[in-house]
Amino acid sequence: MTAEGHLLFSVASLIMAHKLQLTPELAQGDWLHMVPGALLGALLPDIDHPSSIPGRLFRIFSLPISKLCGHRGFTHSLIAWMILLISCYQWLPASWGIPVDLVQAFLLGYLSHLIADMLTPSGVPLLWPLPQRFCLPLLRSKTNKRGERFVSVLLTVCACLLPSGYQLDLYFQIEMAIKYIQNQLSIHLPT
Ligand SMILES: [Zn+2]
Repeated sequence: MTAEGHLLFSVASLIMAHKLQLTPELAQGDWLHMVPGALLGALLPDIDHPSSIPGRLFRIFSLPISKLCGHRGFTHSLIAWMILLISCYQWLPASWGIPVDLVQAFLLGYLSHLIADMLTPSGVPLLWPLPQRFCLPLLRSKTNKRGERFVSVLLTVCACLLPSGYQLDLYFQIEMAIKYIQNQLSIHLPT
């Protein structure tokens, strides 16, 4: 997918996450924080390609990552995303004063990049270092600008059509899922 496609898709994903109230911060965050965060996150995974925008800006990181893992390798995996998530919440100094809504939008933008690349036929190795690639090839080629714009606009329109009171509180959903599993285990496992 092109950089333009990733940027459009990240903004569309942000609008969807805001509308679904995925987290309280994304639901009530400041767009001036969230949009730059999402755009930054959407570009970062392609640092593994020396001629991409982040690759050209940070050649010192791009060249070794590209040599070690290749394009669409480690940086396009869930492990990379988890490392970023832990880094943002555990090691980012509070004294830097980076807003939480910006951090969450950045992580969302990164995730949107992985999903967007999954829409192309070559897919992404979500479970890297396992070689299996995951794809939902809605777009026929790696660079199909028309298709990329169409998917992003479609996602934005779907987000705008969602009823305003609709809520998908991710924390609440995870909490309910954990409770359900605990209940099932207590019923089925001998005490
Ligand atoms: Zn990519």
